Amino acid sequence: MLKWTDRFDGPIIGRGRTLVKEGAVVGLHRSPPGWQAMVVGTELYSVTVQIERGQAAGTGCTCPYAAHGENCKHMAAVFFILEGRFPDIIKDDDAALTARLDELSPDEVEDALQFAIECGSTRCIAILLNRRSAADQPKFSPDEFTLDDIPEDALPGTRADVQGDNDPMKLLFPEDYAV
Ligand SMILES: [Zn+2]
Repeated sequence: MLKWTDRFDGPIIGRGRTLVKEGAVVGLHRSPPGWQAMVVGTELYSVTVQIERGQAAGTGCTCPYAAHGENCKHMAAVFFILEGRFPDIIKDDDAALTARLDELSPDEVEDALQFAIECGSTRCIAILLNRRSAADQPKFSPDEFTLDDIPEDALPGTRADVQGDNDPMKLLFPEDYAV
C-alpha cells in the first residue's frame, strides 16, 4: 500500500478525493523519476510526484498553495489515483473534464490550451481544441490525438518570433533542434 497521507493535512486529503471524483486529474503519465499530471482546479495546474519504496518522495505543483512549500490537494488527487483506490476513475473521464472546461471563458480556454501544450497533455489539448472550434468543424479524438496534430495556429508563437530556450517549438520538437 502506497504511504502518503501522513504528509498531508486531513482536509487537504478530502479535497483531493473530491477532485478525483470530479474527474479533475487528466493526462497522468510516467515522467521519470516520477509521475506527472494536469489537475483542473481554479486554474490548470501541473503536478509531479515521486514515489520511493512505497512512500511519497518528491512532490511539486504549480498552484499558489504549493508555492508556500505545502502539500496541496492537487498532489493528493494524483496520489489517490496512483494508489488505485478509484479504479473506475483512472480512465480519463472526458465528460467530467469537458463539463469543467465549458465553464472557462474563451480567453481562459486559450490560456489553458497553451498550458496543455507546454505539459504535452494530448488528451487535454484535443478537448480544448474541440472546445474552441466552431460547431461545424471536425472534432479531434482525444484517444488518437498526438502532438503532431496540433494545428499551427494553436502553437504559442512561431519559430521566427520566439527564440532561445523559451521557444515552445523547441520544447515540443527537441529532435528538430538537436545539434
Ligand atoms: Zn496544487
